[in-house]
Amino acid sequence: MDPGDQTLGLNDFGHWKVEALKRFLSCRGLSSSGNKEELIALAFAAHTMKIPPKQSALEKQISNNDTYTNLLKISQTKLPDPLQLYENWQDEKQGMRHWPPIFITDLTKFLMSYESEDTAKQHLNQYKIGKAYQYFKSEWLKEVYYHPVDRASLYCFLRAKCTPSQSLRSDAHTAWICCEKVSGDIKSAYCTCTAGYEQTCNHVAGLLFRVEYANKMGYTSCTSSKCEWVVPKEKSLEPAMIKDMTFERSQHGKAGIDIDASQGREEVQQVLEEQPDIDQGIYTE
Ligand SMILES: [Zn+2]
Repeated sequence: MDPGDQTLGLNDFGHWKVEALKRFLSCRGLSSSGNKEELIALAFAAHTMKIPPKQSALEKQISNNDTYTNLLKISQTKLPDPLQLYENWQDEKQGMRHWPPIFITDLTKFLMSYESEDTAKQHLNQYKIGKAYQYFKSEWLKEVYYHPVDRASLYCFLRAKCTPSQSLRSDAHTAWICCEKVSGDIKSAYCTCTAGYEQTCNHVAGLLFRVEYANKMGYTSCTSSKCEWVVPKEKSLEPAMIKDMTFERSQHGKAGIDIDASQGREEVQQVLEEQPDIDQGIYTE
């Protein structure tokens, strides 16, 4: 399955908070009264039947919703809504070098604290078995845009559009994450897909995986200027006979023939001559 297709099962709705279930139902014009089990069943049925949210209700939800507003309150700072910011977004070519240093530790911390245990495990397992790239290499995650909020802001936004490839009838979603510029600490995330308020959808995970990958590969600091750090070169090793080897001290700061090691070589040679079956192909520089 394309991980961009956010298909929710009954269990997924089971992890939602009552408040989120009620919001999901009411913005579709459905009754939001009943106990949690009833709300879960109704929400799942509405999702399965693809009952769309009412446009006006959705708009109202985005602008007035406390949950959404709270996502933008970071340590006493009230940030602008990235869905309402229309200027100063930098595309990958311009913006990637400013991307915050999000690494797997930040990603794990965020997923574990914001996702249900099952979803976090699923995402982290995809990462562990090397399948995280499917979350951003497949067609559905579009270009990632960076927004610095303003020059003095400690926080920034990363945003991407997501188009589920297999659900052509589904609308494109927009996922965003907010993080600290310097540390890469992920503060909040949101997606316009149905699971967005729970911050648990594959679109947010895909966006995080994409940024983590760029950091891991060194793209975020090296795209526009020459790398300032030296990549360790692989030395090519050729097999050689032990009698042809030169022994050197491996101690830092000293070089040259080590007398003791040289004596050791003769001893090794002697042993090898006594035991002709031992493979004499030894690697040296
Ligand atoms: Zn989503």
